Amino acid sequence: MNIIDFLFPKRCFGCDALGNYFCKICAQSLLVQKQICIECFKPSVDGKTHFKCQKKFSLDGFTSAYVYEGAIKKALISLKYKFAYDIAFELAKMVAIRLLEISFLFPDNSLIVPVPLYKKRENWRGFNQSEILAKELAKLIKYEHKIGLIVKIKDHRAQVRLSRTERLKNTKNIYKVLDQKGIYERNIILIDDVVTTGATLREIGKVLKMNGAKSVWGVAIAH
Ligand SMILES: [Zn+2]
Ligand SMILES: [Zn+2]
Repeated sequence: MNIIDFLFPKRCFGCDALGNYFCKICAQSLLVQKQICIECFKPSVDGKTHFKCQKKFSLDGFTSAYVYEGAIKKALISLKYKFAYDIAFELAKMVAIRLLEISFLFPDNSLIVPVPLYKKRENWRGFNQSEILAKELAKLIKYEHKIGLIVKIKDHRAQVRLSRTERLKNTKNIYKVLDQKGIYERNIILIDDVVTTGATLREIGKVLKMNGAKSVWGVAIAH
């Protein structure tokens, strides 16, 4: 046990038991998410965007591991506001297992890319939680991962305070690809922590595809 674990012992987000952020029992009782189409949010067997919902630069599909509630919600909120690398590590491990369970068939040369944060926000928090999740997930499922290919060039008021329509409007033209060669003809797995309207993933997916990405699949811990 290291000094940090001694001073701030890990407790289960579900039942408060000491040892891990998710004890075995709570980890098994988490509600897994049904797969949906990221355009219309209606069920889609394998998470593929419905054929009839596809637009020119739509995401090809979306996979979300858990329902955003209970212990998962607590873990994701803690991850956002405190630096807790171990939480990200445990979540990434659980999501990797879920992805393998949900017949997850990304092409071998897929590239894992995290949803970027606006720099100032990242500095204030000290880290981008999606970046940590992407890095850990990449290690576990053995795909290449890269950060800094795409950046957020414009901040906007915190999404949580906006209505759904305002949120949708608010995600236009705020992402920019920095390394076009890095994404050209690549199959991209785009990692986010929590998805609410899906507007962020759809917008980044569009920007990636407009810049030459071959396919883009969104992956979230929960929605
Ligand atoms: Zn527990
Ligand atoms: Zn649809």
